[in-house]
Amino acid sequence: MWIGIDDTDSREGGCTTYIGFLLSGALQKYLTGFPRLVRLNPNIPYKTRGNGAVSLHFSKSAGDRIIIGKKDGEWIFSRRDNAAEEEYIPEAFTIAEKLVEDNMIKGNDQTNPGLIGGTRIPTESFYRMALEKIIDQKISYSLLEELGITHREWGNGRGITGSLASIAWRGRRITYELISYNSPNGKRLPARDKRIIGEMCESRQDTFNNMDSSGKIALFPKERTPVVYGIRSISHETLLSIQEEIGRLYPDLDRNFLIYQTNQGTDDHIIHDPEILEEGGSYSLKGRIDGVPVRGEGGHMSIPFRHEKGIMNLMAFEPSKSFRNLLQGLRPGDLVRVYGSLSRGNLKLEKINLMEISEIYRRVAPNCSACGGKTRNTGSGIYQCVSCHRKNMPAYRREQRTMVKGKYEPPAFARRHLSMPWKLEGAFSA
Ligand code: ATP
Repeated sequence: MWIGIDDTDSREGGCTTYIGFLLSGALQKYLTGFPRLVRLNPNIPYKTRGNGAVSLHFSKSAGDRIIIGKKDGEWIFSRRDNAAEEEYIPEAFTIAEKLVEDNMIKGNDQTNPGLIGGTRIPTESFYRMALEKIIDQKISYSLLEELGITHREWGNGRGITGSLASIAWRGRRITYELISYNSPNGKRLPARDKRIIGEMCESRQDTFNNMDSSGKIALFPKERTPVVYGIRSISHETLLSIQEEIGRLYPDLDRNFLIYQTNQGTDDHIIHDPEILEEGGSYSLKGRIDGVPVRGEGGHMSIPFRHEKGIMNLMAFEPSKSFRNLLQGLRPGDLVRVYGSLSRGNLKLEKINLMEISEIYRRVAPNCSACGGKTRNTGSGIYQCVSCHRKNMPAYRREQRTMVKGKYEPPAFARRHLSMPWKLEGAFSA
């Protein structure tokens, strides 16, 4: 049986993964596999933070135990699923319902929780649709009916859509996130401890998005949530081993944590070289820079880009810091593959592969061909010698390019959850 939960928090507090953590602890006897944190369309207007929904799988006939976390200092175990058929477990839905009710943020019209429970899951195309488009809630309701899924909703029930998309995820590309909790609000750690934990994570090969080259650490949330830190990796064993190391230094940080299986860092939202581009979609496109960079109001940077299907502006925003400045070094003719989401005809950049650097020649005043003296532009592109007045054609000098070919991305703290960091390129077989 699958349970999906979404939209239980607000910027003032709460976190849907925290409810997933409580549910994992409460229903260990039925829990199978890892709980899942599934990120959906990053361009959705009504997300609280990262448009994430949570789903868990339960079964009465489960196999070997696996460690997936700790609650109040005790291990949380899950099991490998052995069941031939899905079975509805009423108790699982009732407990989930109570946990959502007790832990959701109330009285905020931005918080519209949805809880679903069922034995059948939507097709994978629903997951894809939830990554790429804005789904009409009516479609979600008819899917609930078609699949015989039990649901409960609060507010306008928008969370139903994310919940359904979360159980529709097939996990073809998987990463893991270990989330550590300290309820009701995440413990604030001194900067020194954050650095120690950040460096511990960064020293492991198969982690990602821990910190950037300037040393800024991305593991700790800004908003008020029960989360203390989240560590991301392509290996759950690595996460357990880091957690053990953290626990030796900070025993009180080793009491409550859960490892989620996720689609973070997988580029699942990206459509490569599509036939049609749609507003709000996320794409990877190859083409050439078609103009010079312009700094806009609010500090964003944009530059024209021509690809097979047309022309658009590439945009990088202030929070991406060094990445935004990178656009300043691009020149017409540079061959690039870009990744990002389409918003009002602009591509909001997530990363860029600079594949070929064009040679740029600038027109300069030549030395006089007759006497070697200085020349001055007459205004018509003809350069007249200051001494002997002979007319000369312009000279051209190759611009010294500062950019080097390579793969660029924003610093870890400014990346989108779904965006695959260059470090993970090649980590997934499919
Ligand atoms: P939370 O931790 O509460 O889940 P969040 O940042 O993930 O926070 P939500 O508060 O869940 O964002 O807001 C996103 C809302 O949008 C949810 O109600 C979800 O069901 C809905 N939603 C997500 N993807 C889509 C989509 N593609 N089409 C329509 N609705 C969507």
